[in-house]
Amino acid sequence: MLREDALATAARTAPRSLASRYAGRTVLAIGAHPDDLEIGIGGTLARLARAGARVVMAVVSIPSEFETRVAEAKGGAQILGAELRVLLNGGRCCRVEDLKTYELVTLLDGLVKELGPAAVLTHGSADFHRDHVLVHNAALATQRLQFFDLFCYYPTNCRPVQTAFQPRVYVNVSQTIDTKIEAIAAHVSQFSCRGLGVDVYRETARAQGRMIGAEYAEGLDVMRMILD
Ligand SMILES: [Zn+2]
Repeated sequence: MLREDALATAARTAPRSLASRYAGRTVLAIGAHPDDLEIGIGGTLARLARAGARVVMAVVSIPSEFETRVAEAKGGAQILGAELRVLLNGGRCCRVEDLKTYELVTLLDGLVKELGPAAVLTHGSADFHRDHVLVHNAALATQRLQFFDLFCYYPTNCRPVQTAFQPRVYVNVSQTIDTKIEAIAAHVSQFSCRGLGVDVYRETARAQGRMIGAEYAEGLDVMRMILD
């Protein structure tokens, strides 16, 4: 009887949602460029922040219009309720592939050592953008430092491109889809200035939501997940 009670209690209180799993803990999201994180997991990050997680958005490089894009990235992070870190922040533009592999790993190592994240979310390996794949590989390397959940988000782009990405888990972002879209639109230089709309990301989230019976969702691949 006692065992049944314990099982019932465990089932009732089990943190099934991503948000409740990370409440009070730190989640580190890593993107190669400004806007990658808003596009890939803006809804998830907003949910985590609302649930009480400390959400840190790390942008590795600013490839163009340094001051404008840093300001847009700050705006996007603020909308999502996250802290922003720009890793290659020498006050000038540069690209991820300007770094040696060990230098990129060292940058990400520093973040992991400082923050001790319960989860890291980053680009997937099937991405078409070389900078994104470089960041994915460097994030994989940080797993040697400590144990954390590691997820990869949907390939990010300003225009639709076919990808081989297959989500394994889905985060219901029905409550935060509008926040996500607002955060993407904060990157004015990448969208409205170029005549590009952001509705495609709402449509993508709607399509992923159908996979779990939710209005909107973001799909993630799972590299490692620790079930206590
Ligand atoms: Zn990018």
